[in-house]
Amino acid sequence: MQQEPPTLPKEFQHSAPFPDGRRLSLRADCERCFGLCCVAPAFSASADFAIDKDAGHACPNLQSDFRCAIHQRLRRQGFPGCAVYDCFGAGQKVAQVTFGGQDWRRTPRIAVQMFEVFTIMRQLHELLWYLTEALTLQPARPLHGELSLALDETERLTHGSPDDLVELDVTAHRRDVNALLLRTSELVRAEARRHEIDRRGADLIGKDLRGADLRGANLRGAYLIGADLRGADLGMADLIGADFRGADLRGADLTGSIFLTQSRLDAAKGDLGTKLPPSLTRPTHWPPSVTPRSRRRRPPRPRA
Ligand code: SF4
Repeated sequence: MQQEPPTLPKEFQHSAPFPDGRRLSLRADCERCFGLCCVAPAFSASADFAIDKDAGHACPNLQSDFRCAIHQRLRRQGFPGCAVYDCFGAGQKVAQVTFGGQDWRRTPRIAVQMFEVFTIMRQLHELLWYLTEALTLQPARPLHGELSLALDETERLTHGSPDDLVELDVTAHRRDVNALLLRTSELVRAEARRHEIDRRGADLIGKDLRGADLRGANLRGAYLIGADLRGADLGMADLIGADFRGADLRGADLTGSIFLTQSRLDAAKGDLGTKLPPSLTRPTHWPPSVTPRSRRRRPPRPRA
């Protein structure tokens, strides 16, 4: 189901969802990867993963052709964390560029370094995703020069050798880029409201936020797990790192929100009444029609 076109004033709209096609290369292409996300990270048995798994050990569901044996029924089998995972295209970059098409099964001597590089590459590709989005934001035009430099530098780092990548201080690079993204966010959110709503890193787990006015709010890294956000206004809110697992976004307005990723959206519940930013698609597991509850009269707005 296609989402409706955005209805924001022109100055608030992203100038182009995919300015140079770069974001297409930041989408996972599992056919060109060697199941790196199914091997490199550790899992703990939880609501997201049905099993414990050590880092560097292949998941028992990973087949010899690097495909998942339960791909069509991940949620039913207790692996919803896999269904919403996003490597931002780091998997195919490591497999095909950094290691030139060698795979860790046929060339076991590269395995340990390959998994380590994947962990670093994923962080770099996530930064590329945010920087690419930042360059589409009209209120952030004064920062576009700095954002372009940061984008080019991050892209350059992704093309390093395996040794270069392992030695990279990715934490320092993330810190520098995040500072720039925060300044970007401030410019965007200043267009949305005069007084800041700062919920950065807030514990909003399971909160009743039905109909809340969170327009232009700073929700960076907020814990919104299981929160009831039906009918809430999240337009132009900064959602970088916000945890929406199990959050109810039915009828919520996320138009113009910034730094929301597809995987975080996929972890939430929504319906046809949920309004999305133009660069994201409606999760296929959401119901295809407006659910009866979100058709009801809009709930009262508690204070944010
Ligand atoms: S369940 Fe499938 S997708 Fe998840 S880690 Fe295992 S093989 Fe990969």
